[in-house]
Amino acid sequence: MTDIVFQSRFGEVIFSAGCLAVFESFQQKKVSSAEAGGQLFGVFTEPRSVRVSVATGPSRGSLRSRFSFHPNRAAEKREIESFHQRGLHYLGDWHSHPEPRPSPSLSDENKMMQIFGASHHDLNCVLMVIVGTSEFPDALWVGAVTDSDVAPLTIRPKHADVSHPSICNPARLDRWC
Ligand SMILES: [Zn+2]
Repeated sequence: MTDIVFQSRFGEVIFSAGCLAVFESFQQKKVSSAEAGGQLFGVFTEPRSVRVSVATGPSRGSLRSRFSFHPNRAAEKREIESFHQRGLHYLGDWHSHPEPRPSPSLSDENKMMQIFGASHHDLNCVLMVIVGTSEFPDALWVGAVTDSDVAPLTIRPKHADVSHPSICNPARLDRWC
């Protein structure tokens, strides 16, 4: 699997092959498979790019059913701290849906906007990824979440315009955790 690059108004978001392999391993392709989810961590590779290098799986203590996923937020917080010590920033959350081309529910959007507002991070937006059951990239829904909206990202066009602000807000970098 190769990297997949999405374009947001904040810049490029690159999903590494390793991260995509984790998404793939939790695709709900069987009737019996439960929703899964986890967190996204990565690095700012250029002023206008972010590389999602790690996707974690469901933490112990999360509640999973076919149509719902409730993470263990305390375990996720510890995960954020430990990745941060290794230089990897928290970038957002992902979860699976049992549909080929997924889209977020209203509750998905509201939860992520709350997370953006409530957590200390160094981002102009947090990412929300939903993993469906078809092939990549069709199975991936990616959104940039702020406290006021959720904007879907698109696969990068061939000649990308890079005259937009960065996903990383340097003024907030030292305010992490
Ligand atoms: Zn959902």
